[in-house]
Amino acid sequence: MKIFFENISNKFQKIFESINKKTRLSEKDIEQTLNDVKNTFLDADVNLEVARNFIKKIKEKIINQNIINSLTPSQHIIKFVNDELVNDLGSIQSKLSFSNNLTIYMMVGLQGSGKTTHACKLAVYLKKINKKVMLVACDIYRPAAVNQLKILGENNNVFVFFKENKSPVEIAELSTEYALKNNFDCVLIDTAGRLNVDENMMNELKEIKRKVWPQEIFLVVDSMMGQEAANVAKDFNNTVGIDSVIMTKLDSDTKGGSILSITSVTKKPIKFIGTGEKVSDLEEFFPDRIASRILGMGDVVGVIEKIEKNIDIKKTVKTFTKKDFDLQDFYDQMQSLKKLGSSKNFMSMIPGFSQMIGKSQLDDKAFFRNSAIILSMTPKERANPDIINGPRKKRISLGSGQKINDVNILLKKFNDFKKILKMFGNNKKSIFDMFGK
Ligand code: GDP
Repeated sequence: MKIFFENISNKFQKIFESINKKTRLSEKDIEQTLNDVKNTFLDADVNLEVARNFIKKIKEKIINQNIINSLTPSQHIIKFVNDELVNDLGSIQSKLSFSNNLTIYMMVGLQGSGKTTHACKLAVYLKKINKKVMLVACDIYRPAAVNQLKILGENNNVFVFFKENKSPVEIAELSTEYALKNNFDCVLIDTAGRLNVDENMMNELKEIKRKVWPQEIFLVVDSMMGQEAANVAKDFNNTVGIDSVIMTKLDSDTKGGSILSITSVTKKPIKFIGTGEKVSDLEEFFPDRIASRILGMGDVVGVIEKIEKNIDIKKTVKTFTKKDFDLQDFYDQMQSLKKLGSSKNFMSMIPGFSQMIGKSQLDDKAFFRNSAIILSMTPKERANPDIINGPRKKRISLGSGQKINDVNILLKKFNDFKKILKMFGNNKKSIFDMFGK
């Protein structure tokens, strides 16, 4: 998994860090926080109406639950923002649907949105779950489109159906007859796009839909379009009717807001996200994981999937969830993650790690510094960092060759990290649930 939403998540982390420092929040603090959340959304190019509604719902929760007087107002706000984000992104994962015999999927969207690429990605995904899949080339207008699909199909061992001198509607119809005769399980129809929403294109899509009755119509949308993506989706939904969305090019989207606008405006589920040009760059869409990434809380499940093959998963879960998680555990985790190459991206997906180490320090130097400091502690100190007083800090600093201030920073951040683990632990949808414990 790659890292996305870096800009938006950096801003959220700053907002949360600033309220996390306070044990009590005034009404003014809350107002300021909500304003910052709204501005973060707007900077990420989230639709204004969507951002306003979001804040309105959070405000209602704050008032209804009287959190100003609770002991942990900031944690409540973070939880509300997280829950609302998950809710807006679709609550739970929407899975691909299949019909009883031949399943027909249709890809629609503007030209350049990634339809052809994602038709192929989806074909490869379906092949992996043992479906006999066929791609259908219905984009007869863009000169290279049919060839592009044929080459993609050939490279990935997927049969591509095409008929010369036929209209897209005829090709679609013929393809389904062919698929039924030849025992295919799934047909993926790649349709033509235009640069803008246009009536001829919509009519053709409606006609294909009327003839082949697809199980699902996927709207393929380029996430880099920002809030315009939501308008495109609205148009396609109102005219052709869509069932679900594939957001593409998330790897290149620096703002990250379109994903929220689109789900809020269309109420159609995003089922997949495209994260690169390769056919393997397709991920199923999980609202809770994406919300975690947007808020900079890390994608715990994503991390777990990635490390499953390399690290003793049971041990990792046990370590993260043990009550007395100490500096030795932290050191061990850092070392075992380093075995994976421990890229900046990877580490920053783990909740709190980025706060623990500092975003700018997620590099080899910081690893070296923190490792040296922890190694200069006695086992007793690692197990019980509270006993590290002034003289001990001086000794650790000398032993590790690092500044006393670095020791202080590490200890402070370790405490913050523990708080985050605890915070997840107090949430219903907690880190522990996510680990599947
Ligand atoms: P279509 O006109 O809708 O069929 O769009 P294409 O499938 O031809 O894609 C347009 C361009 O976007 C091509 O250069 C693709 O390689 C590129 N592309 C498609 N999906 C992604 C993605 O998820 N990430 C990135 N970085 N590029 C993508």
